[in-house]
Amino acid sequence: MPWFASELAPLLAVVAAALDEDSVLIEANAGFLKLIEVDGRQPIGAHASRFFIQPSFADLARVPAGANGEIHRGLLTMGDHMGQTRTLRGRVWRAGARLHLLAEYDVEELERLNNAILALNNDYAEAQRAIAQVNLELKQREAQIVAISLTDQLTGVGNRHQLERELAREISRATRSGDKLCALMADLDHFKRVNDTHGHEAGDKVLAAFGKLLRQQTRATDIVTRFGGEEFVVLMPKTVLEEAVATAERIRAALAVARVEPLSDPVTGSFGVAELAAGEAGDALLRRIDKALYAAKQAGRDQVITG
Ligand code: GH3
Ligand code: MG
Ligand code: MG
Repeated sequence: MPWFASELAPLLAVVAAALDEDSVLIEANAGFLKLIEVDGRQPIGAHASRFFIQPSFADLARVPAGANGEIHRGLLTMGDHMGQTRTLRGRVWRAGARLHLLAEYDVEELERLNNAILALNNDYAEAQRAIAQVNLELKQREAQIVAISLTDQLTGVGNRHQLERELAREISRATRSGDKLCALMADLDHFKRVNDTHGHEAGDKVLAAFGKLLRQQTRATDIVTRFGGEEFVVLMPKTVLEEAVATAERIRAALAVARVEPLSDPVTGSFGVAELAAGEAGDALLRRIDKALYAAKQAGRDQVITG
């Protein structure tokens, strides 16, 4: 029977042990065994110097016993010399030739550890929030970069890259849904003259104004892009040919009366319009509206022709 009460035997927060006159561990409760368990080796039968760190067993053995045999009271650092150690609070006393030990975990130290863990957790949560914020900003910046890479800087409408992207998307959408998809190509008439007469900067202003007019005269779901130079392409999802022609006519009419500083006369435009045929590819549709636009030029400009 060990010296300590059987209630102490299974406790883990309390350490109880006995050493024989040769400082060999002969009794230990669960708390002690757990504390100094190394590689699963049993400490019973091992010398005290293996698991007493502070005060060392050599020191303890020299201490003369006080009243009721006590030789140490206070902090005890225990554990494996090479591994984890724990500071406990308790006492060691002589009982005949033996030494008895009873100690408990230092609650204040546990609280300090607990507080340190709480602080770490807070830091961690703070870091997580900061990372989430940075991720959000990165996503927003990425979206901005994508938007910029798809935008024509002069006019603010989509660029050729966006046209290609949206054309492919809209064709597969139309193919899936059975909705009609139309496209128009617009080209300003005699635009070279604008540049020659008023300068390139004035030409730029006209292009920007035309981009704005195209957006004003089309639906929010229509995709307005600058195809190149003074040519623009508008994709019109869920639109039949008649509606697309009406849109082109509306644009043509609005352009014909628009005034752009420093030009005194309006600029006109020619338009080619077509509806996507079943199974038709994007570049074939673009070729058709280009041909229709060419026909509009041939027919005298400032008009809409279907292809
Ligand atoms: P048409 O009626 O046959 O279309 O005649 P046009 O003069 O409009 O056509 P052409 O293709 O001969 O000339 C297009 C002009 O557009 C020439 C080019 O300098 C001008 N242009 C193209 N891109 C820009 C631009 O970004 N800014 C300015 N200011 N002019 C541009
Ligand atoms: Mg032109
Ligand atoms: Mg042109």
